[in-house]
Amino acid sequence: MVLKNTGNEIFSALKGLLVGARKKIVLVTHENPDGDAIGSAIGLGEVLKSYGHEVKIVVPNAYPDFLKWFSSELEIVVYERKRSQVVNILKEAELMICVDFNEPKRVDRLRKKLLEFSNPKILIDHHPNPTDFCDYMVSEPSYSSTAELVYDVIKNIDLKGNITHHAAEALFTGIMTDTGSFSHNISSPNTFMVVAKLMEHGIDTEKIHASVYHTFSVHRMKLLGHSLDKMKVFPEFRSAVIWLSQDELKAYSFQPGDIEGFVNYPLSINNIVFSALFMEKKGYVKASFRSKGSFPANEFAQNHFSGGGHRNAAGGEIKLSLEESLEKFTQLLKDYSHLLTETTN
Ligand code: 5GP
Ligand code: MN
Repeated sequence: MVLKNTGNEIFSALKGLLVGARKKIVLVTHENPDGDAIGSAIGLGEVLKSYGHEVKIVVPNAYPDFLKWFSSELEIVVYERKRSQVVNILKEAELMICVDFNEPKRVDRLRKKLLEFSNPKILIDHHPNPTDFCDYMVSEPSYSSTAELVYDVIKNIDLKGNITHHAAEALFTGIMTDTGSFSHNISSPNTFMVVAKLMEHGIDTEKIHASVYHTFSVHRMKLLGHSLDKMKVFPEFRSAVIWLSQDELKAYSFQPGDIEGFVNYPLSINNIVFSALFMEKKGYVKASFRSKGSFPANEFAQNHFSGGGHRNAAGGEIKLSLEESLEKFTQLLKDYSHLLTETTN
């Protein structure tokens, strides 16, 4: 039975699973975990741990250093590095909770293991168009972040009393990163109400912000300068693109997470409403898209780059060279010319 958002029904089902007997629970995030994925996993993990569950967090691949300062002591096991440990965790877990993704493809190499998991699976996520791969789905695309949604789930299953300082700090981080420090994705006062509740736990929001955003290595800052220097702007299509080859990444001693956020910068240019970043990988190109206002970056990603995401933040990939990807993007802008020029903002 797949139980989707059906108000009280889903919460009483989740209560039945999470409140009562203590369990072994595994939390899973998408590949290349971002602040919302890690923050939601740690936040929910800490609450469940404080209630008495045995909690493990599994992520498909490595995540950036700017997400490694949390005071939580929950271990995050990276499948790419510790396969047998993850296999054991999955074997022992009585319950799986998937956070911040809504299709099995998003866990990449962990996909098969995730689908084979035979105990109940819960999904908590805020991306549009979920696929049915979990038994219980809390899928709310109107939420700013999975972390905000996690807070409301915790509240609705009466575990608010188990929100610790560690949990509050992690959930705040998820909301802060997915909203670009409260600049976008916020469609309801609930976001700030949740933030206010989290602040009651005495978290140091200034320190959290600095821990995430003010820890660039010199290489990373110079790589940003380099990317922006060669950025191509298409004023007639209100768009801009930046791209990085493997050689360039090597020249700037690339570390996981180093290009996080780069795709947002072109949107700071007056009248630019669509920004793309292409990163060369082995045999394919990873694409990131950001937009302002009504331009649907997710439809663009879905239609042409086998991807998806939110209206204003999406991504995908394509089996082309970097040059071919740029050419394809340039051509596509013409097809979207109308939408790009009409878009609000
Ligand atoms: P980013 O550009 O930070 O990698 O991704 C931004 C957002 O786009 C993510 O939060 C996710 O919703 C979506 N996204 C990124 N890559 C993919 C992809 O390959 N497939 C899908 N469906 N969504 C993606
Ligand atoms: Mn998210």
